[in-house]
Amino acid sequence: MSEEKKTSIKKIRSAGPMRDLMADYFRELDEAAKTGSAKVAWCTSVGPAELLRAFGFRVYFPENHGAMLGSTRVASDLIPAANAIGYSPDICSYLTSDIGSWLRKSTPLTKAYGMATVPKPDVLVYNTNQCRDVQDWLSYYARELRVPICGIQTPRSLGDIAQHHVDDLMAQHKALVPLLEQVSGKRFDIDALRETVASSYRCTTLWKRVLRTATHVPAPVTFFDDTIHMGPAVVLRGDERAVRYYEGLAAELEERIRDKVAAVDGEAHRLYWEGMPVWGKLREHAELFMARRTCVVASTYCNSWIFEALANKDPFEAMARAYAELFIVRNEAFKEGYLERMVRDYGIGGIIYHDAKTCPNNSNNRYGMPGRLASKLKIPYVVVNGDLNDLRLYSEEQARTQFEALVEQL
Ligand code: SF4
Repeated sequence: MSEEKKTSIKKIRSAGPMRDLMADYFRELDEAAKTGSAKVAWCTSVGPAELLRAFGFRVYFPENHGAMLGSTRVASDLIPAANAIGYSPDICSYLTSDIGSWLRKSTPLTKAYGMATVPKPDVLVYNTNQCRDVQDWLSYYARELRVPICGIQTPRSLGDIAQHHVDDLMAQHKALVPLLEQVSGKRFDIDALRETVASSYRCTTLWKRVLRTATHVPAPVTFFDDTIHMGPAVVLRGDERAVRYYEGLAAELEERIRDKVAAVDGEAHRLYWEGMPVWGKLREHAELFMARRTCVVASTYCNSWIFEALANKDPFEAMARAYAELFIVRNEAFKEGYLERMVRDYGIGGIIYHDAKTCPNNSNNRYGMPGRLASKLKIPYVVVNGDLNDLRLYSEEQARTQFEALVEQL
C-alpha cells in the first residue's frame, strides 16, 4: 500500500464567482424559455455556439445537463427510463440519462437553480465532430417537441486537416444561417459573428492559461478542479462574462504559484487522465490521489475546450477549423503525438486511461495505444473500466486497487 496522507481539497476562491456566473446563465435561459424574451437554442458541446450567440440565442448545452445528472448521481436511476423506450444501455449515458430525466420530469436544475424544467428549445443544433450520438440525442427532442433541427456532419479520424475539409465545413456552417434567421427573426450579421468568435477566442486563450499553470511543479490546480471550472468555457464561450471569469481564475492560480501553494501538498507524483471523468466520483478520486501525494495535472478532456483556430480572421473558417481540429476528431497517430506532447509538457509520470463503457469516442485505450505509448515513453499506465454517468458500470473497489497499483509504480 502506498503512503497515505490525511488531507482535504483546497478551495479555489474563484469557485464563488463561478457559481454566481452559472446561476445567472441558467436564470437567463429559464427566463427566455418562460417569457419568450429571447429564443433558446440547444447546442452540442463542441457545436457552433458562436454562430448561435451571434443571432442572440440563449444557448443551452444538453451535455452540460448530462454532466450535472452524473455529478449529482441521479443518472443511474434515470437511464432505465430511456432504455424502456428503446435507447440501448450501451449508448452514451449522457444521452440516456438526459432523455430519462426528460421522461421522468426530474432535473437537478430544479434544486440548483429553481428551474421547473430544462429550458424548452426553439431550435436544436449539433455537430457530429464528437460522435453520432449527439445527432440522435437532439433528434429525439426534435420529434418530441416538434422543434426544427439542423447540424454539421464532420468527418472523423482525421490526420492533417486539409483545405477541402475546411471548405466543406465552412459551407455547412453557412448553410445553417437561413434556418437560424427564420427561427431567431433576425438577419445574419457578420460583424456580430466576428465579435462573438473573437470573444470565444479570448475565453479559450485564458482557459489554456489556466490549464497550463499545472505545468508548474507543484501544480496549483488538479484535473478534478478543472472539470468544475471548465463550466463557463463550455456554456458561455462567446460571452465576455466568461472572459472576465477566467482572467480572475488564471490570476488566482498564478498567485498560488508565486506563493508556492500546491493543489496537492507535498506533490510527489504527476499523472495524466485520458478519457471522460467519472462524474459521480470526482470528489472520491480527488481525495484518493491527494492522500497519496499524487496530482492528476492534465487531461485530454479539459484540454478539449482549447480552440486555437478561433484566432482566424474569417469567423466561418475559424469555427470550421476549431471544431475539426479537436482531439476527438483525429486519428490514432495524431492522438499519440498529442499525448506524447502532454506527457513531456506537464512532466507526467503515469497515465490513467478511463475506458468509459458507453463512450467509445472518448475511450482511447481500445486499439493498443496504451501499450504503444508505454513502450515509447517508458512510463506506467492503468486502464480503468467505468463510465461517465452510469455508476453501475464502475467498481469502486477495482478502481481504487488499480489507482494504488499505478501510484506504487511511480
Ligand atoms: S462524445 Fe461520448 S459522452 Fe460525448 S455525447 Fe458523444 S457518446 Fe456521449
